[in-house]
Amino acid sequence: RYKEKWAATAPRIPCTRLALHHFDMSYSLQLKDLWPSVRASLLCEQKYGALLNNFSADNYVTQELELMNATDFVSEGSKKAQQGAAAEEVARGESRLQEASGKVRTVMQTETMTQAETSLPLRASISSNIKCYTYPRGDITRFRPARQDCLGLLDYYLMDAASVLPVLALNVQRGDLVLDLCAAPGGKTLALLQTGLCGHLAANDVSISRTKRLYNILHSYVPKEIRETVSVTSYDGRDWEKLEGGTFHKVLVDVPCTTDRHSVMEEENNIFHKRRTKERQMLPMLQLQLLMAGILATKPGGEVVYSTCSLSSLQNECVIERAVDIAETQFNITVHVEDLSHFRTLFQDTFSFSDCRLGELVLPHLTANFGPMYFCKLRRV
Ligand code: SAM
Repeated sequence: RYKEKWAATAPRIPCTRLALHHFDMSYSLQLKDLWPSVRASLLCEQKYGALLNNFSADNYVTQELELMNATDFVSEGSKKAQQGAAAEEVARGESRLQEASGKVRTVMQTETMTQAETSLPLRASISSNIKCYTYPRGDITRFRPARQDCLGLLDYYLMDAASVLPVLALNVQRGDLVLDLCAAPGGKTLALLQTGLCGHLAANDVSISRTKRLYNILHSYVPKEIRETVSVTSYDGRDWEKLEGGTFHKVLVDVPCTTDRHSVMEEENNIFHKRRTKERQMLPMLQLQLLMAGILATKPGGEVVYSTCSLSSLQNECVIERAVDIAETQFNITVHVEDLSHFRTLFQDTFSFSDCRLGELVLPHLTANFGPMYFCKLRRV
């Protein structure tokens, strides 16, 4: 009897093609008309940002970057926030004056009020210690590789600039106890350290090999005395509650996801490999468990930022909704989803944002090819 040996001989479909096919099916429904342009961007070279190393002794790097026409998007956003706050203050003052003199509202005043209302969200402060340089929209200049200063520390860290947004959203305050639950390879841990505000930073990642990469980053960028204040662990983040529950002011939960850009571009370590199907299907469950662990690790009044580098609403908003529900019903913990819409106003020159039910989503765009990056902030009441 003839037996077809298809399994051994049939050409294997590349994982990147499987990923693209999967995304075509789901994201054309989710993003509708936007999908073709996001798809094209995912398949093009991504843009980087240069996260400045505040611990480096190299004073010339900012000058060098500015001469190249790169700007620090964080300080630009911060300036906008301050202007927004000032405009709001002026509008409030004017309105108080009008009330005091008993005047009827004029058309002019109504206009001022409208401006004040639109600038209201700008009051949110943005940590200005983090500096991340990017080239303007449409400029695809590449950054030179990082260089060592006289102390042997590298001057900047190249990363997807959108990865800085979840760290900014966490809004670390001086002395905060901070947990980075899924920390490796360590881009966001490094950004958290750049704030210079963490009272203590716990960086955890279940993967030993990836934790080694985190150590390497700490060694290349952070002086010994600061490095020693960071505790690096390799626990399964889902068990964090058993180790240290309810102790942190700020928790970052940057979960494993379908890493959409990587999945359509790289065969190596691709989550769309046939043998990883089960792992991929279980991702939303793992993400939910990690987010729950993050919520339980937070003090009452503390804040959690959940983030992914996927466009999938199943891995983004749906995980948030389930976690809020489980926190309330199973743990009697009330969790509020915080408004981060001011991020769009502040950073729209650098990133393309998409409408999202909960949280914020950076969409890859041909002129600003960062992301995808989803982030959502929760406050434990
Ligand atoms: N935050 C990192 C950064 O900015 O460089 C990237 C984190 S990556 C998106 C997700 C990480 O979650 C991976 O390093 C993976 O090893 C880790 N991870 C997966 N399952 C985990 C678990 N159960 N507990 C803790 N970490 C986990």
